Amino acid sequence: MNKFYVTNVQQSDTNEKTGHYQFLVTFDDKTKCRVFYTKNPDWKLESVTRLLTVPCPICRRDYFCNCLERFTDVIDQEVKESGLLPE
Ligand SMILES: [Zn+2]
Repeated sequence: MNKFYVTNVQQSDTNEKTGHYQFLVTFDDKTKCRVFYTKNPDWKLESVTRLLTVPCPICRRDYFCNCLERFTDVIDQEVKESGLLPE
């Protein structure tokens, strides 16, 4: 898997003073992940983590794995290209 299709980016926790943002990203197969960004002034991906309540987008397991860490660059690009980040 080398392409994700981001269908939704939901802001879940934000500290605008420090420029830290947390989003819930949904892919078109209904899997999700949590992404942490900073904005200063450009968006910069800090990390991507699994939501343990839904299967992993890559290995489809529903327990802990590190798959997403290998795809942080791709996910970062997909999220930015989705145009769903706030202004
Ligand atoms: Zn996995």
